[in-house]
This record gives sequence, structure tokens and C-alpha cells, in this order.
Amino acid sequence: MHGDERAERIADFIEPLRVEPGSKVRLGRDFDPRDKAGLKKREGVELLRSGVELLAEYQQRLAAQDTYGVLLCLQALDAGGKDGTIRHVMSGVNPQGVRVSSFKVPSAEELDHDYLWRYAKRLPERGGIAIFNRSHYEEVLVVRVHPELLVRQRLPGHARGSGVWKRRYQEINDWERHLTDNGFKVVKIFLNLSKEEQRTRFLKRLDLPEKNWKFSAADVRERQYWDDYQRAFSRMLSATSTEWAPWYVVPADRKWFARICTAAILAHTLIDIDPRYPEVDEETRKDLRTAKRRLEQEAPEGLPADPYAARHPSAGKKKRG
Ligand code: ATP
Ligand code: MG
Repeated sequence: MHGDERAERIADFIEPLRVEPGSKVRLGRDFDPRDKAGLKKREGVELLRSGVELLAEYQQRLAAQDTYGVLLCLQALDAGGKDGTIRHVMSGVNPQGVRVSSFKVPSAEELDHDYLWRYAKRLPERGGIAIFNRSHYEEVLVVRVHPELLVRQRLPGHARGSGVWKRRYQEINDWERHLTDNGFKVVKIFLNLSKEEQRTRFLKRLDLPEKNWKFSAADVRERQYWDDYQRAFSRMLSATSTEWAPWYVVPADRKWFARICTAAILAHTLIDIDPRYPEVDEETRKDLRTAKRRLEQEAPEGLPADPYAARHPSAGKKKRG
């Protein structure tokens, strides 16, 4: 398939998942966790495979160009499938170009700083992809659902009044704007799981001995706050889906579908950046020719001057693109 056509298909595929900036989201009404865009699992596996290949190729170019970085934020409720999604979607990329950071309950040191500090420390470098497994959005999700967590942050009086959430949305939007303007694309994905599918997955962890380690009684307690979380997610999506860093709501009841969507969204971002291998200038090309001649002159008796070119007759004639 032609590159532009592929790019267009990916864009069309993820369009319905994108939260229109400025729109008011109500999760239960607007997004269906069971959706699979009419795909069959078998087709999905094939799609994911080609998506993973595409990501690998683009990541190489991103690293070579060394100008842009990508930050992928993954949010979900417990058992939403963040870990598996990361494992599958990133399976083809060079581990040197990717860094995954998981954010848990903040440490004493982290609480001693402003709330964005620990996330800022894990931002991507140019040429790299950073994945946030949970992200700065926890600061308007779990912290909003459990106000005692806000108390632990020891904010000064004027900073913890009733306007705190609105202000945080604004600060997060501004921060992401700053990152985008400076070459760091921010991609945000919410894996949208249904309450019934969460129940099923918890039970699977209890039923299968090899999954027991994944079960946490705390997750079941947190499930009691389901409606509060849905509300907090809806508000967050409404307030922080921006032109420069839109949210995507990915149906997560079918793991294979969530993975395809995530790969497609990340691919779309990279295609948009369109990273190129750096062009070598004439000066450098001259140096390369000199080095090549020198190496060729070192060829032992009876062996080809350039064994690589001898084996690959078209090498050096093709333009990289
Ligand atoms: P998994 O369970 O798959 O290992 P996880 O992301 O659920 O992954 P846990 O260690 O189970 O990891 O949970 C991390 C916990 O940390 C979550 O309950 C989350 O709500 C909490 N957390 C994350 N960020 C914050 C924060 N800023 N303030 C308070 N709690 C937070
Ligand atoms: Mg957990």
C-alpha cells in the first residue's frame, strides 16, 4: 500500500476515538468499551503485526533525526490492560529508544515537590519515546476521587481551594503546550473498560493460580468508586483534550482491539512528525569517499576490494527515504 494511503487509513481509523477539543464528554453515553469497529480478531492480529512493523521503522527515523520526542500517556482503571498494551504495541521497537515509567503512590520525596515534578523528570529526550504507565493525569483522577491525597500534598492555602481542579487542567494544558512547541509530541490514551469486564478480569485473576499474583484486594476496594472515577475521567477528557494534545478514548473490553487502536494512534503521531534520516552534506560525503578508498586499499590479496558491495550489487545506488 502507498504510504499516503496507509497514513490516511490510519487517520480515518482513529478519528472516532479522538475527543474533540472543547466538547463535553460523558463516558457512559459517548464511548462504548465493547466497540471493535466491525473487525474480527483474526483480522486484528494481522493489523497489529503491520502496525508494530511500521512503528519500528518510524522509531528508527525518529532516533536518527534526533529533533522530536514523543510522550505517550496511558491511563486506565485497574485491569484496563495498560501493561499488556505496552508489551504488545512496543514489541518491535528498539528498547534503546523507549523508556517506560510507571507512576505509583508518590514517595515522600515526590510529595515534597510540586505535583508535576516527578513526571517532568521522566520526559522523553529528543529522538526518544517515553511511555507513562499512569501519568500526571492521576493528579486530577485518583487525587480528585480521594481528597485526602490532596491533603498529603501539603499545598499552601490559596492553592487548594475549590478552584484546584480547574487550575490543574489549565496548568496541564499549558505544560503540554510548552512541550509540543518545543518538539515533544504528547499522545494521550484512555483505555476505556466496562465495569462488567473489570469484574470478569478480577475473577480470572482469582480463578487462575498463575494469575493470582496480579490480584489485589485494593483494586476491588477501588472499584467501589467506579462512578466517581467515571465522572473524574469525563471531566478530565472534556477539559484537557486540546488541539495540540488530544485525548483518545480506546475501547478496552477486547484486549486485541485496544492494542490495534493504541498502535494506530502512536503510528499516526509518528507519521505526522514524519522524521527523516539526516542528509549527509557534500563535505561529509567527500570524507566518506576518502574513507571508502582507504578501506578498499587494505583488501588482502585475492579478496574483493569491497566485500559488502560485491555481495549487494545495488548497495549505494538506492536513496534512503
Ligand atoms: P499493576 O497493578 O498492573 O501493576 P498499577 O498501575 O495499577 O499497575 P499499582 O502499584 O497496583 O500499579 O497501583 C498504583 C497506584 O498508585 C494506583 O492505585 C494509583 O491510583 C496510585 N497513584 C498513582 N499516582 C498517584 C498519585 N499521584 N497520588 C496518589 N496515588 C497515585
Ligand atoms: Mg494495580
